[in-house]
Amino acid sequence: MKKIAIVGAGFSGAVIAHELAKADYQLEVFDSRPHVAGNCHSQRDPETGVMVHTYGPHIFHTSNEKVWNYVRQFDEFMPYTNRVKAITKGRVFSLPVNLLTINQFFGKTFNPREAEAFLASIGDQSISDPKTFEEQALRFVGKDLYEAFFKGYTTKQWGMHPSELPASILKRLPVRFNYDDNYYASNFQGMPKNGYTFIVEKMLDHPGIQLHLGTTFERESAGDYDHVFYSGPIDTWFGYSQGRLGYRTLDFKSETHDGDYQGNAVLNYCDEDVPWTRISEHKHFSPWESHEKTVIFKEYSRFCEENDIPYYPIRLVKDKSQLKEYIELAQAERNITFVGRLGTYRYLDMHITIAEALDVAEQFLARAGGSEPMPSFTVNPLG
Ligand code: FAD
Ligand code: UDP
Repeated sequence: MKKIAIVGAGFSGAVIAHELAKADYQLEVFDSRPHVAGNCHSQRDPETGVMVHTYGPHIFHTSNEKVWNYVRQFDEFMPYTNRVKAITKGRVFSLPVNLLTINQFFGKTFNPREAEAFLASIGDQSISDPKTFEEQALRFVGKDLYEAFFKGYTTKQWGMHPSELPASILKRLPVRFNYDDNYYASNFQGMPKNGYTFIVEKMLDHPGIQLHLGTTFERESAGDYDHVFYSGPIDTWFGYSQGRLGYRTLDFKSETHDGDYQGNAVLNYCDEDVPWTRISEHKHFSPWESHEKTVIFKEYSRFCEENDIPYYPIRLVKDKSQLKEYIELAQAERNITFVGRLGTYRYLDMHITIAEALDVAEQFLARAGGSEPMPSFTVNPLG
């Protein structure tokens, strides 16, 4: 029987482990942290009973029916729609930019057609092919909305001016000419009734899986296994030989209050002189529960230093050229597959992480469990 190690007990590692264990493999799963579920970890706050998303708010959404059916094997998903509010210059609006945002911001009563024509008239039409975040914003929402909602928030979130960032970051957000204020355009959205950690614990609860928490897997141990699935940072695996890939990290300052602190799960703070980017009030992520007290997280973004947790890959030109060098090193390795958001240095939502992990497991099993070599990547990290 082949010896297989899985590094990381987040969704990437847990889904691969679960699928291979079902196919009768014996696996060892390692995580440096004392808990499973990686950055999706959730736990009940002992003082208030509120389910807290320890590493920041996580909302499950997908249009992939296979993934939606897959996760619902492990827990019931409760109805939840993310509706974000944003504070700018002393006023509250709805995000993503929609008809209510436009009408309230400009003091109008536009219908969809009028609002679309209005935004086209205030957008900078001389920018024909927006390359940067700032150009994309000026072209599609115009200077006033850009300065109110995006300039300050993005400068805080990424630590640089939006003219230095790619347009792709802003393209993640829609602009809607109706009153739909659902933050996501996915077909399915919900929250696991018992939290993400409950799901991952269930995935890993199999006689074929041996779990080692609080245990960092070192590269020297790879030789003890026939195959390693690695969901840790790719630059760490190679001892940062090509330099450190740039990440943003987050600091969460937690506070406990009585009652309802802000009346919504997420409030963005778009002004640059407010130091945090957003405040999450965790009990509103479980609207079917009721709690007298409440837990909030103020979220601060900064550059990720050596001992910080990497959150958002920055992926500027410099990072991408370093990544290319790491990909070449990875492709020269044998018996290891780099997976997940850290292994491939990409921002991945949970549903993409799960879809990719299912694909990795399928590819491994289709290769008769590794009698044919598995590639170092099943996706293109530069794509
Ligand atoms: P991770 O969850 O990071 O797991 C990797 C694990 O590997 C970690 O637990 C780490 O401790 C372990 N590890 C690393 N190196 C080693 C080693 N050498 N030995 C042992 N263990 C090791 N997605 C959504 O769909 N909706 C959201 O609302 C959402 N919100 C997010 C908010 C924030 C602030 C962030 C940063 C991400 C958010 N995501 C969201 C994305 C989500 O967090 C990822 O999709 C998911 O965590 C990826 O899982 P993973 O297993 O690849 O990585
Ligand atoms: N953004 C912003 N103001 C907001 C919300 C988002 O400027 O109130 C920008 C920010 O740069 C962010 C990007 O839009 O990184 C994409 O938004 P998303 O909600 O996907 O943010 P992320 O997942 O990066 O936190």
